[in-house]
Amino acid sequence: MIPPGTCRMCRQRPVAAFQFRDGEVRFALCSACDQTPAAKRAHEALDGYDIRNGCIHSPGKFEGERRYVPYYWAIYLEGGADDDGRVVSVRVEEDDKALFPELMQRHRVRLIEDEAGFVCEVR
Ligand SMILES: [Zn+2]
Repeated sequence: MIPPGTCRMCRQRPVAAFQFRDGEVRFALCSACDQTPAAKRAHEALDGYDIRNGCIHSPGKFEGERRYVPYYWAIYLEGGADDDGRVVSVRVEEDDKALFPELMQRHRVRLIEDEAGFVCEVR
């Protein structure tokens, strides 16, 4: 186990606290690791969302989805996903697991966008 207050990515330096509106720590990363491409993408993708208990509460296309869904949707929009015309499949990288420990046992995240424009995870 990584001691509390220690960066999840390098497992060495203390955490630079990023807070959700409700006070939950967003990413337990040090200020150096928070500059990684994965961390930057996560901050951009999740900026402004109200996230509680790992789920998105803000109204809109990601409402009710897990907090990592906008992150993987951003990867898809950048061309980093397999797309069979219906289901988008994005590989879970090791750096992602430092940001989203709930994906520790996962290899891919699969997403669909419905006719109304809502993005949903397919399990
Ligand atoms: Zn670090």
